[in-house]
Amino acid sequence: MFLGIKRVLIEGWRNRVPSKLLLVISLATVLIISMLNISFTFGYRIMERYVPLLDASMVIKLEAASAHLWFEELISNDEAESIDAVLSHLDRAVWYANAMLHGGENHKGRFLALQDPLLIDDAEKIVVQLQRFRSMTLQRFQNFKSSGIGSDIDQRYDALFKRLLVSADQLEAGLQHNVDVKLRQFEQVHTLLILFLLLLATIVFGFFFRYERERAKNLAQIHASNDALKRLSMMDALTAIANRRHFDDCFENEWQRAIREKSPLSVLMIDVDYFKAFNDHYGHLAGDECLIKIATTLASAFRRPADLVARFGGEEFSVILPNSVESYNDAMRCNELIEGLAIPHVKGKVVTVSIGVASMVPRLDTPATELIKRADQALYAAKSEGRNRVVLAS
Ligand code: GH3
Ligand code: MG
Ligand code: MG
Repeated sequence: MFLGIKRVLIEGWRNRVPSKLLLVISLATVLIISMLNISFTFGYRIMERYVPLLDASMVIKLEAASAHLWFEELISNDEAESIDAVLSHLDRAVWYANAMLHGGENHKGRFLALQDPLLIDDAEKIVVQLQRFRSMTLQRFQNFKSSGIGSDIDQRYDALFKRLLVSADQLEAGLQHNVDVKLRQFEQVHTLLILFLLLLATIVFGFFFRYERERAKNLAQIHASNDALKRLSMMDALTAIANRRHFDDCFENEWQRAIREKSPLSVLMIDVDYFKAFNDHYGHLAGDECLIKIATTLASAFRRPADLVARFGGEEFSVILPNSVESYNDAMRCNELIEGLAIPHVKGKVVTVSIGVASMVPRLDTPATELIKRADQALYAAKSEGRNRVVLAS
């Protein structure tokens, strides 16, 4: 059994079921089986001991009564009855009385010896009375003529028979009393077992409840940290807007959707002008601050749920505009918004951006990089044409 529990615990551990819970379930199972076993054994012991003894006490009365009745018939000259039949009834009664005292077995079952001293006394008394009854029967049979109905010996015979019946009744009542006591004990044990089982069920339920609650809590925590990790993996650490990976995923999805729906897709490529000079003059930390301001401004410039503003890399940003006919105007707006931030720049007056805009209705045979390439070329043109401007790809 110990090995069984060990195996269950090891498997439980492998399946990530808490070992404490498994231990409680295993112990509860063992306890329930033991308690059922105790209950059955207790009930069986009562049956095994007392039912045959009660039977025996009744058989003694029956056999004695039969012997008495047949002998009365015999003494009244009934030819059909014989002294052997009368004696065999008495012998059977004696056998049962001895079986009650010392134990015995016959075709009716097994008789366990009495243990209660009071009942042993009663049974011993019955054996003595039966023997006297037997010898008196023989005596009357031998002195047939002087022992008829109404004779002195007949009256003593009847009185002995009555005492014998009283003793047998007393023994039966004593046995019945013992059975009642044992049954009451059995009931008490039963009630205790049921209470214990209820307690056990409450403990196991409590463990389950706690386990389920903890599991749900852990699951919620895992989901929450998964969500947080997913958000982090899609976010640019410096500017807190979408990163390049998110941009790539989103661009791929929108590209496929635009092919399916035959709708236009636009991309803005935005590059900060003379940013190296900005860094060189104001320092990298100021450069970071500047990038954060630009990113925040760009992100808040687009309201449609499908639009995505991302940091493409370094001081470059990009915007995906699905199904938009306003991309050039949007680019112009961005350009103005950044200039409107009025971040001082050593080169020119303020920080500005150059923007390349490209739009197309993609086809299946067009490579997805085509749109970005065109936006990049437009950005290159914007740079070449003097920066701080928007160029629409041809
Ligand atoms: P142009 O107008 O032609 O774009 O000139 P530019 O100086 O902006 O372009 P260049 O490619 O020569 O320089 C980009 C600079 O951006 C260089 C790099 O130090 C800076 N940079 C890129 N990423 C970051 C960043 O995360 N923080 C800071 N502070 N600077 C960055
Ligand atoms: Mg650049
Ligand atoms: Mg630049």
